[in-house]
Amino acid sequence: MQFLLWSVRVGMSYLALAAGFCSLIWLSQQLEAVPQVRLKAWEAAPLVVVDAGHGGHDGGAVAGGAIEKNLALDLALQLRQELLRLGLRVQMTRETDVFLPLEERAALADRVQAAAFVSLHLNTSAAPEVSGIETYYTERKSLPVVRALQTRLGLTSPTVSDQRGRWLADHLQRHSCLTTQAENRGIKERNYAVVSQTQVPAALIECGFLTHATEASRLKQAAYQARLITGIAQGLAEFLKIQQAEPLRGVNASGEGPDKPRETETSTQP
Ligand SMILES: [Zn+2]
Repeated sequence: MQFLLWSVRVGMSYLALAAGFCSLIWLSQQLEAVPQVRLKAWEAAPLVVVDAGHGGHDGGAVAGGAIEKNLALDLALQLRQELLRLGLRVQMTRETDVFLPLEERAALADRVQAAAFVSLHLNTSAAPEVSGIETYYTERKSLPVVRALQTRLGLTSPTVSDQRGRWLADHLQRHSCLTTQAENRGIKERNYAVVSQTQVPAALIECGFLTHATEASRLKQAAYQARLITGIAQGLAEFLKIQQAEPLRGVNASGEGPDKPRETETSTQP
């Protein structure tokens, strides 16, 4: 009888052990199923320049009960936190309500040799029903930037095309639309000074329309801001992961033609 009791007890403990083991396997599978950016995979933490659009006497758009420069700064500071959490390094163009010329923002990215430059803005439209996110980039850098890239790559061609901004814009656009469920207005090429006057892969994201009543009120909500920032940060991290092995991939010599970069073609502020 005693032996029987002992066998039952031993049997039960083995059963408990087996159950524990199974639940451990189950737990590790669940953890793996959660998509996450792994923190320690960076060879060397890339540096991102985060640019809050406008500032100081340049307020940007004023609509939907918001001033663009303030909301952009608020979002930019949150983006810094999220990028630091992902193991990246961050340099802000501004951390307070100050005016900064566009050329200075772009030049800062070159000076600190950033891996990427992201400018945050809010959009407006004369049509109140227009909403969603759109991201700008350029493949035609300004003349001084083209010259610098030619030197770095030893290119002899008179023109250079740089596709990295388009790739970055595409990542930012896809991820931010996924996390926010905002309307995807796509990526667009435009020679804004902040994207064309830097050697760094650069994109300008218009995070939503202040002239759209629902979107404007969402953009002011902490939960929506968090989803937006998560998307932008994920897009950036994904871009940088791909880019890290070969930072100048996508910069190529291009033949002479109508696409030749022009020095005068810059500097309209969105
Ligand atoms: Zn703006």
